[in-house]
Amino acid sequence: MDFDTVIHGGTIATPHETWVGDIGITAGRITAMADKIAGGVRRIDAAGRIVVPGGIEAHAHIAQESSAGLMSADDYYTGSVSAAFGGNSSFIPFAAQHRGQSVDDVVATYDGRAAPNSVLDYSYHLIISDPTPSVLEEELPRAFARGITSFKVFMTYDLMNLGDKGMLDILTVARKHGALTMVHAENNDMVKWMNARLAEAGLTAPKYHAISRPGIAEAEAINRAISLATLVGAGLFIVHVSTPEGAELVARARAAGLPIHSETCPQYLAFTRDDLDRPGMEGAKYISSPPLRDAATQDVLWRHARTGTFDSVSSDHAPYRFDETGKFVKGPTPPYPAIANGMPGIAARLPYLFSEGVVAGRITLQQFVALSSANAARVFGVTHKGAILPGYDADIAIWDAEETRVVTAKDQHDAMDYTPFEGMRLTGWPVHVMNRGDTIVEGGELKADRGRGRFIARAPYAVPPSAPVVPEMDPATNFGAMIRP
Ligand SMILES: [Zn+2]
Repeated sequence: MDFDTVIHGGTIATPHETWVGDIGITAGRITAMADKIAGGVRRIDAAGRIVVPGGIEAHAHIAQESSAGLMSADDYYTGSVSAAFGGNSSFIPFAAQHRGQSVDDVVATYDGRAAPNSVLDYSYHLIISDPTPSVLEEELPRAFARGITSFKVFMTYDLMNLGDKGMLDILTVARKHGALTMVHAENNDMVKWMNARLAEAGLTAPKYHAISRPGIAEAEAINRAISLATLVGAGLFIVHVSTPEGAELVARARAAGLPIHSETCPQYLAFTRDDLDRPGMEGAKYISSPPLRDAATQDVLWRHARTGTFDSVSSDHAPYRFDETGKFVKGPTPPYPAIANGMPGIAARLPYLFSEGVVAGRITLQQFVALSSANAARVFGVTHKGAILPGYDADIAIWDAEETRVVTAKDQHDAMDYTPFEGMRLTGWPVHVMNRGDTIVEGGELKADRGRGRFIARAPYAVPPSAPVVPEMDPATNFGAMIRP
């Protein structure tokens, strides 16, 4: 039987090695790998190109209302198209519960948004803001059983944060049912206190957003989140780590064998709080939480990307346009707390990481594969993606490592009117992106139909049996066995 597609002569990169060879694809899956494969209904010449697993974008806000009720600019069509142009074969945006809403209703709502529109395979992480007994005991386990095996909670924002007790309860549910808790870690009261001081002093320009959310507020919350997860023996994924102190806490926990995972985002590597001080209201384009930091932080975060502290570098794509539908929904010159939070970057994530990481010599090609897809697949239970191996989905991106382009908003193919990466010269671009063997983007053109993407049911998350247990909760002791839920 002939292959549907043979990718010929590319430099194939995995997290472990790099070799030149051919890949045979049948019915959407990789079915053969060898030095030379003959035939193929379609042959793709990848000589001189780099062949990697298609990116898995593990942090994006698509067709999602913020807790303030503002809809993101991208829906599942523009969001997935933009992701594909950026070298991604699949993505896992958030499905957000608002207070009072059932998880079943959340999942049904996002199914209605994603299934008819996405050009890429997709899954969701839930966002839980209202962990009622029914949510904890019935609705979350039902979502996990459907393959939605991760969810995010917040330690900040009055409308979102669960409090320490709420965290302990939900971490316990996650551990028992094989799900992974993700956390936005910033100390809510520190931020509110800083906001009040800045407001009293009349300091409301965009640049004060960075002052209002100090690095120590992140470090304190990360330390607390790791402690809460460790008490109940649960795994934890800390999203968008932005500080050296926060990254050190994660690295120390991992060195102790704790099931702590984390990511950083390109914006913390690429920009600083000086970008919030651009002329006029331009700084509003760079408002996200946690905020941008400084140049010394960038060096430390790159080191942690290199040494394995971060499982992934994710975009945290949170698209709000630079107009009255987005950033300025509360007026043309709002004080910083009234400016919509977040910046786009789903198309720029991997070109940035490739250019400033691999080409600039900060990370290896193997680390690029790990940070862009392989680790996200492993941590989030995407069992048949994130690797180029026989039996895996043919989710493949072919990169031209030598092409240099200047980033423009138009080339992001999203619904946005700006990109924070505008004008940046990047070397290394995806030229052919596949999902389950179908070409999605080739030669700068979209080849896929709306709605072809499929839901990815993900595997459960398991805390490794080797993970240390605090003595008071050790099930090997009488009291531990009695009180451990
Ligand atoms: Zn986010």
